Amino acid sequence: MFAAGDVWAEEQPLVTVSPNGSQPSSKGPAQFFTGNVRVDGAFKGTGAARVSGGTVTFEPGARSAWHTHPLGQTLIVTAGMGRVQQEGQPMQVIRAGDTVWIPPNVRHWHGATPTTGMTHVAISEALDGKVVDWMEHVSDTQYNQR
Ligand code: MN
Repeated sequence: MFAAGDVWAEEQPLVTVSPNGSQPSSKGPAQFFTGNVRVDGAFKGTGAARVSGGTVTFEPGARSAWHTHPLGQTLIVTAGMGRVQQEGQPMQVIRAGDTVWIPPNVRHWHGATPTTGMTHVAISEALDGKVVDWMEHVSDTQYNQR
């Protein structure tokens, strides 16, 4: 039998399998996140590809800072229940199985609810090498409003 990632051909394949566990989890830096945030399975296209992303897990109460994406962002919620908010709009609840599209240059944040964790796959394309513009943290007052 063979396992994912085993190489049978004599030449190295161009298709790359990065096995689960092959890269350590990383912590969402406090500069850009409130609370405990973990990133797993970070990925990035090669060559002219612009895509990158990862699986981001927010513990209850954790959230991103306000930010924008120059070419937008797709979120695929894979576990739990969380929140996403566009500036000037009410928060929206997001649950496992939901997909979210954030258009380019729309100020927003995403994260857990105060009582439930949330995990999403985040996918963005880079413009001039940049995928995000970070702004100020989401305050407790902003986070706790209904
Ligand atoms: Mn975002």
